[in-house]
Amino acid sequence: MKLLNQLEARLHDLHEQSLIRVRKTVETPCGPRVTVDGRPMLAFCSNDYLGLAGHPAVVAALQEGATRYGAGSGASHLISGHTGAHVALEERLAAFVGPYLVEPRALSFCTGYMANLAVITGLANVDKDTVIFSEALNHASLIDGARLARTTVKVYPHADVEALAALLEQSTAANKIVVTDSVFSMDGDLAPLPALLALCERHDAWLVVDDAHGFGTLGQNGRGALAHFKLRSPNLVYMGTLGKAAGVGGAFVAAHKTVIETLIQRARPYIFTTAAPPALAHALLTSLDIIAGEEGEQRRSQLHALVAQWRDGLRLRRWQALASDTAIQPVVIGRNDETMRVGAALYEQGLWVGAIRPPTVPADTARLRVTFSAAHTADEVAQLIAALNQLENT
Ligand SMILES: *Cc1c(COP(=O)(O)O)cnc(C)c1O
Repeated sequence: MKLLNQLEARLHDLHEQSLIRVRKTVETPCGPRVTVDGRPMLAFCSNDYLGLAGHPAVVAALQEGATRYGAGSGASHLISGHTGAHVALEERLAAFVGPYLVEPRALSFCTGYMANLAVITGLANVDKDTVIFSEALNHASLIDGARLARTTVKVYPHADVEALAALLEQSTAANKIVVTDSVFSMDGDLAPLPALLALCERHDAWLVVDDAHGFGTLGQNGRGALAHFKLRSPNLVYMGTLGKAAGVGGAFVAAHKTVIETLIQRARPYIFTTAAPPALAHALLTSLDIIAGEEGEQRRSQLHALVAQWRDGLRLRRWQALASDTAIQPVVIGRNDETMRVGAALYEQGLWVGAIRPPTVPADTARLRVTFSAAHTADEVAQLIAALNQLENT
């Protein structure tokens, strides 16, 4: 059949370019020590930065949530799917990141991808004369949100505050929205949020901050990137995800209560989808207790110690470890095929790291994306360092 032949030809091209992706099957709870396709592996590729995905207290809270609220929500939030668990979660999240916002309110979502679609379309659709200013290395969900908003998008180069300043200066748009990751997901570096916020305040623009990798790991009590930089502004619209450091799933937007009310009334990715199972929201209350408390502090310091150990121990000459202080520690190799070879060689030794190729990263910057978790031990990190140092020499 002609249609299938077309698809097969495209897949064949992907094979030729070393761009075919294969899913591995994990048979144990998320954590550093997992069974993958029947083999014990040491994993350095999840975003479970604090080791909460398999935490007994979080798992118990999920079970309790299911007993209390059942398995599913049954409908969207605006029909009958909005439960007491969602209300409690939103109140807790608003209080948690509230110190960095003005008259804060929070809204929970099923995924970060949908939260980003909702925020960008929700803010953009308010006025026909809208321009979105998007950082070059933004996550795919922010890029797709900007596309869905069907308005002008100007992309500014990575971390280039001056370039953004020039674009804002030239713009006469009635509604300006600057959109950025806080921690770049494939590079691990931080956006210059204080300078970006100063610009947004000067030009009366929104600053939408996607803190998928900062929430739970950065700032006092793990309150995220706004806490890390000690920012506070009515221009800030904050998006945090709950499937990474928080270990469960879902996401939230926190902002001035008028922004949140606008999303509830107008954002189609919020309105036209079934609410997340309430048990997830219930489990997240326990996650948040851990993140904000003493145990969270200990887990964050363990994570930072492992990152420091990694940066001290790497001895790379050809490959490039990117400058990052976060749990995301990429090693740029360059070619797709060499990156896949190194990834496979580590895998042979029982070490599982992400091998990231275009289009997720720019051409010729294929890389290993190593991520650390508080659940790793120093011995395990030492094992990965030794393997990588040795592989570069072979
Ligand atoms: C993971 C991620 C998202 C999407 O969040 P999900 O909850 O996984 O849909 C959005 N932005 C960034 C930067 C991410 O890393």
